Amino acid sequence: MGATYQFPAKALWGAKTEPKCRFFTWLALHNRALTADNLAKKNWPCEPTCPLCYCIPETTQHLLT
Ligand SMILES: [Zn+2]
Repeated sequence: MGATYQFPAKALWGAKTEPKCRFFTWLALHNRALTADNLAKKNWPCEPTCPLCYCIPETTQHLLT
């Protein structure tokens, strides 16, 4: 508790994968993916419920789990 975590950016950007995968990982880690909750923050029209399970709001964490 109270500790900070330094993200190993070198590991992410140096990963041997497609740039789009590295970029999406960066978006997800920084909670910047265009999920319903983030679209709502920008006042973009969207359906707040997850389109896969129709159970709970779509968030980055829910999308990845
Ligand atoms: Zn869902």
